[in-house]
Amino acid sequence: MRRLYVAANNVETILLIEVLKSKGIPAFALKDVLQGALGEIPFIETWPEVWLEQDSQYEIAKKVVDDWQSTKTSGSIFCDACSEHSPSEFELCWNCGAAFDT
Ligand SMILES: [Zn+2]
Repeated sequence: MRRLYVAANNVETILLIEVLKSKGIPAFALKDVLQGALGEIPFIETWPEVWLEQDSQYEIAKKVVDDWQSTKTSGSIFCDACSEHSPSEFELCWNCGAAFDT
């Protein structure tokens, strides 16, 4: 197992894991337990991490992350149905499957 990426939020984690899976790279999310110690304010979330199951896929996975980061900067779409944000290139909400009118 090897840590690939520290995401800014849970949505990003889920999206990145989906992208990696679509490339045949098994990955999963882990919370950083050390950062949890900073949580004096209860609702602050620790930053989730994306880990690879196979160390040997690190280099290729890193490229996937780079490509993914260069495309996701184009913004996000707010879902009226469930109040989640999806990447602007999505046609459906990742969370509830609602279609976006664009
Ligand atoms: Zn939604």
